[in-house]
Amino acid sequence: MMLGFLLARAGVRVAILEKHADFLRDFRGDTIHPSTLELMHELGLLDEFLKLPHSRVERLSGQVGAETITLADFSHLPTHCKFVALMPQWDFLDFLAMHGKRYPAFDLHMRTEAIDLIEEGGRVVGVRAKTPDGELEIRADLVVACDGRHSTLRERAGFHVENLGAPMDVLWFRISRRDDDSAETFGHMEAGMLLVMLNRNDYWQCAYVIPKGGIDRVKAKGLPAFLDSIASMSPFLRDRLSEIKSWDDVKLLTVAVDRLQRWHKPGLLCIGDAAHAMSPIGGVGINLAIQDAVAAANILATPLKEGRVTEALLEAVQQRRTMPMRVIQWVQIQVQNRILRPVLGAAKRPKPPFVVKFLNWFPPLQRLPARLVGLGVRPVHVRTAEAKS
Ligand SMILES: Cc1cc2nc3c(=O)[nH]c(=O)nc-3n(C[C@H](O)[C@H](O)[C@H](O)COP(=O)(O)OP(=O)(O)OC[C@H]3O[C@@H](n4cnc5c(N)ncnc54)[C@H](O)[C@@H]3O)c2cc1C
Repeated sequence: MMLGFLLARAGVRVAILEKHADFLRDFRGDTIHPSTLELMHELGLLDEFLKLPHSRVERLSGQVGAETITLADFSHLPTHCKFVALMPQWDFLDFLAMHGKRYPAFDLHMRTEAIDLIEEGGRVVGVRAKTPDGELEIRADLVVACDGRHSTLRERAGFHVENLGAPMDVLWFRISRRDDDSAETFGHMEAGMLLVMLNRNDYWQCAYVIPKGGIDRVKAKGLPAFLDSIASMSPFLRDRLSEIKSWDDVKLLTVAVDRLQRWHKPGLLCIGDAAHAMSPIGGVGINLAIQDAVAAANILATPLKEGRVTEALLEAVQQRRTMPMRVIQWVQIQVQNRILRPVLGAAKRPKPPFVVKFLNWFPPLQRLPARLVGLGVRPVHVRTAEAKS
């Protein structure tokens, strides 16, 4: 959506395909990071954007066993917004779509699922898509696969995927929120359990982390045992856990961390999770996908307008984004393997790792993780201009 918006704004005709009828998907996360808010500022949209309902997180904190710890303090970042905005991603996407529609070059096709690539003479020249009215062929100078971590298009392209592994999956459910509940979004780790709760105003969006492939073991213990373990971590929820009536109210989200060696071939470029699936750790995947989109627009908008997109330019997009993506994936793998895996396998109450305690002893150090999570590495800026109509 972000790439489509930026290209249309620069005067490049785009067709954006979304297989669903709306953006009310639960699996994407809710975090709009300071670097993305900075991009909204660069686009002149920040004030209007911040009028949408959201909550603000200035510090990332959580509970490990008996201890409450702060991991990151965003309040010193060199950006206009020194916080992470928590906003359901469908509101963010609707906002971008609404602004995209101001440009005649922006063409959003809902309920249109890309099912295959059209290749001619060794080059991708379009996609085949499924719609409620039948199949459709869309021809294009460039196809950008941004269809997420289960990308159909990267599979159709036959790209080699390097799987870095993830030791967990996530059970995703909601529980009502009351006015006197804490306003904070937080995480809580106990032996064998991790619960993250996102404040979505009238309800808590909960993510209960389980060992990879462990859903059958959780179900075998029964729903009451599952609800008890939630209540043991967040006792204030106990009297509303009956809102979860069956396993149908609990969705399994599979976590993947992987990346393509090569993000492109003639006529095709992958970005976002389709190029490098991100773990939920740090809530940075949306941010990275948006940074990819801005980098791609910066490099490709003018060549697309002039009809001279070469593979060298697609490679330039990959080169611009590879190091930032690798650094963040490396950090996610370290957290997965050194903190989450031991906690999920532990029988004893966990204690915060030394590095986390260190951050709490010296609060100014909390600015470092805040920079990594809030801005990422080598953040990109909008370099495309709005086309004169
Ligand atoms: C449990 C979990 C929680 C997470 N929480 C966070 C978080 O809080 N913050 C964060 O930053 N990151 C989070 N992430 C990571 C984040 O979801 C991804 O990194 C991010 O969504 C990637 O963005 P994307 O645009 O590449 O793909 P997606 O957000 O997956 O978007 C892909 C889009 O393409 C559509 N689509 C898919 N296939 C097709 C097709 N064939 N044709 C047409 N449309 C198609 C989908 O419907 C979707 O709208 C989480 C991940 C998981 C697994």
